[in-house]
Amino acid sequence: MREFTYERAQDAAGALALLDAAGPSARYLGGGTNLVDLMKLGVERPGVLVDVTHLPHDRIEELPDGGLRIGAAVRNSELAADRVVREAFPLLAQAVLAGASGQLRNMATVGGNLMQRTRCTYFTDVTKPCNKREGGRDPSGCPARDGHHRNHAILGHSEACVATHPSDMAVAMAALDATVHVTGRDGARTVPIPGLHRLPGDEPWRDTVLSPGELITAVEVPPLGVAVRSAYRKVRERASYAFALVSIAAALDVRDGEVRDCRIALGAVAHVPWRAAHAEDALRGRPATDESFGAAADAELAQARPLPGNAYKVQLARNLIVRTLADLAGAPA
Ligand SMILES: Cc1cc2nc3c(=O)[nH]c(=O)nc-3n(C[C@H](O)[C@H](O)[C@H](O)COP(=O)(O)OP(=O)(O)OC[C@H]3O[C@@H](n4cnc5c(N)ncnc54)[C@H](O)[C@@H]3O)c2cc1C
Ligand code: SF4
Repeated sequence: MREFTYERAQDAAGALALLDAAGPSARYLGGGTNLVDLMKLGVERPGVLVDVTHLPHDRIEELPDGGLRIGAAVRNSELAADRVVREAFPLLAQAVLAGASGQLRNMATVGGNLMQRTRCTYFTDVTKPCNKREGGRDPSGCPARDGHHRNHAILGHSEACVATHPSDMAVAMAALDATVHVTGRDGARTVPIPGLHRLPGDEPWRDTVLSPGELITAVEVPPLGVAVRSAYRKVRERASYAFALVSIAAALDVRDGEVRDCRIALGAVAHVPWRAAHAEDALRGRPATDESFGAAADAELAQARPLPGNAYKVQLARNLIVRTLADLAGAPA
């Protein structure tokens, strides 16, 4: 392993200063459950790690309007166990619990979870070419496109990269219209999710719209009545400790048999947590029936461009959308 230095920041200004002083190879360190793995594999080679888990961003606060402010250093297990999260935003608690394992969730932070990198096996194997891993220095190609791409994207991919974003939590946050608070050299700003993560285009090495050195300090979840009747479902190859083949975060408000409001986001289908806006538009005002749910799924998946090895994901996503919405429509209010 290459040598690196460890620094511990006590506040956001200190973290920014440490990162600035250390230069471009420095990285923020959350729970380390993704970054340290990538360092062991030689994918990430930071000269300095700036630990941001001791910053005062470790609380979940209820906002006066019924929303939540979740500190970036909150551990995934604390988020999933929070009473307000479980009662008002069940899809978020369920999404977090669907990820990784108990031990990993005890370490993983909200900021690190959003910034975790793809699980594409070519990306994590430094002996293979990969446009994303080489960070623009030497775009070496995308072997997944003609190789092993069973777990890869069916929506929004490019010639340069067909990887998916691995986070379960981010899918729920995309459905909830959450906003990320960040701070950097040019001051503080907010970035909505969806909008934080980006499609690969010609620059697959850029996972998000954040500038180098920008620090996530919190995520704000707005009040959302429809979220009370919501769920996160994840299809995977084994029941735990596995990333999604396809997942869905959905919320549904049905009155007098009609869909008044809904939120739908899909996971493991794109380089971003995929907000299914076409499906939502097709569903609002329609009868809460399997036909409407199927039509909504078709409206979204009409954009799908599966590869030969992952065409199964289109039908899987359709089934997951219909089944999840049907269950929510039948669930007691
Ligand atoms: C075996 C295994 C199984 C897993 N299964 C799942 C799964 O099913 N679903 C799922 O969603 N995840 C899964 N994960 C991934 C896990 O959720 C992530 O590793 C974890 O959420 C990352 O959080 P962290 O705090 O440990 O981040 P770190 O590893 O510390 O950091 C990750 C990245 O975020 C950056 N970063 C950290 N904090 C900040 C901040 N505040 N601002 C800006 N950048 C920051 C770091 O520089 C780094 O680039 C799995 C991981 C493992 C090892
Ligand atoms: S899909 Fe993306 S991450 Fe995977 S090999 Fe291709 S460029 Fe690399």
